[in-house]
Amino acid sequence: MQDIMKKNALSIEKSVSGRRGVRFEQSAKLPQDILPQECLRKTAPKLPEMSELDTVRHFTNLSRQNYCLDSHFYPLGSCTMKYNPKAYDVLSGLDGFASAHPFAPQAGVQGTLELLYNLQELLKEVTGLSAFTLQPAAGAHGELTGILTAKAYFKAHGEHQRAEVIVPDTAHGTNPATSNMAGYKVVNIKSAADGCVDKEALQKVLSDKTAVVMLTVPNTVGLFEKDICEIAKMVHAAGALLYMDGANFNALMGVAKPASFGIDMMHLNLHKSFAAPHGGGGPGSGPVGVAAHLAEFLPKPTVAKVGEKFVLQETMPNSLGKIKAFYGNIAVCIRAYCFLRQYDEKTLRQVAEQAVLNANYVRVLLKDYFPAFFDAPCMHECVLSLQKEKMNGIRTADIAKRLLDYGFYAPTIYFPLIVPEAIMIEPTETENKEMLDLFVKAMKAIFEEIISEPQTVHDAPLHQLVKRIDEVSAAREPNLRW
Ligand SMILES: *Cc1c(COP(=O)(O)O)cnc(C)c1O
Repeated sequence: MQDIMKKNALSIEKSVSGRRGVRFEQSAKLPQDILPQECLRKTAPKLPEMSELDTVRHFTNLSRQNYCLDSHFYPLGSCTMKYNPKAYDVLSGLDGFASAHPFAPQAGVQGTLELLYNLQELLKEVTGLSAFTLQPAAGAHGELTGILTAKAYFKAHGEHQRAEVIVPDTAHGTNPATSNMAGYKVVNIKSAADGCVDKEALQKVLSDKTAVVMLTVPNTVGLFEKDICEIAKMVHAAGALLYMDGANFNALMGVAKPASFGIDMMHLNLHKSFAAPHGGGGPGSGPVGVAAHLAEFLPKPTVAKVGEKFVLQETMPNSLGKIKAFYGNIAVCIRAYCFLRQYDEKTLRQVAEQAVLNANYVRVLLKDYFPAFFDAPCMHECVLSLQKEKMNGIRTADIAKRLLDYGFYAPTIYFPLIVPEAIMIEPTETENKEMLDLFVKAMKAIFEEIISEPQTVHDAPLHQLVKRIDEVSAAREPNLRW
């Protein structure tokens, strides 16, 4: 039966010689000289030959094998895979936005520039920071922009000896990678026993060589850096700057303004917290906000308002330059603008509170089965670990595969690296209690299976069209053809 189902839904080789979808009338002869002779094909392309119906079924069936937000709960930690209103898609696709030519004169795209300007203002308001650039195309790109902004700042101040960036072990992996790319030496520090920054360890490595300290807040074990205000003071006393990786702003929006922590700069992931999914593989947006003393170093142009007009401000002599062609991924910015216009300060706070409540709800209900690595209230996501002695040889990856059989997309696994057998669950604020209860029920059922029939979990997934792949061979001998 599985074989027939598989062939029906998934077989790739469907082409039959001579089969056609649409036939076009071979009307008037094309002029011979329309393309240079050397550009013309000598042989016909090898395209699949299929009817239109077969083609439509093929792609529709493939798309139905996929797990996506519109079909399944998607608790992928550190990705904020929440529901994003379809209305924002429609609005970002309005002709005036979507058809604007990238080289259109500024007078012809005043509406787009006004929206971008207003978005910058809204981001300033929710973070408390003084200036924003919307250019960066992703979170990691925002980090690079931030670190290069710091570099331009220290260059302007003649502090060329500042060659190090300090990164705690609970930072997102992109933080050390970014610092390295920007030409800095990365200094790692271990966290304290409570999963937060070890201030003594930080003090030991802070010096006049430190350029930036990069803190992921909430950190990758889902905890708020409770000493961040004090850390900011320590960093500033050493003459360095504090960067906050705010990719997961879901947990804080409307509750706290990061500027009040004393940070100098941060990035936001509009494609997580603000109405575009992160794991969708589409374009992202990682705006960078800075405190007043760094504004002049941001990439140019920024969007400014001069009188009643909106302009791309090019006259910024200390700017680090351009970081992206044209001006950011505007369609993502438009969705974020819609989101921030829909929620006022009070309801934005509810978004964060609900995200935090949902994560803690899951954490507490699973406590006796898969306990949190740090037994403390978490922010928007919880990081669980396995009690090895109870697991009958089952590993985190097995549980993730088994969850597919229960109809859930798998959470993030084996991240963060400091947690052995990590399972990172981010329910987001858009899931209701019924869904969370069902997910918890599935996790408990898997726990029971681990005890009574571990082989089932070990062999999962059992009810998917594609069985578990041989990951070792797939990595060592990749066969990318069929
Ligand atoms: C997702 C994430 C990033 C990277 O964002 P991308 O858009 O994937 O580059 C950086 N830091 C944290 C904390 C994140 O969760």
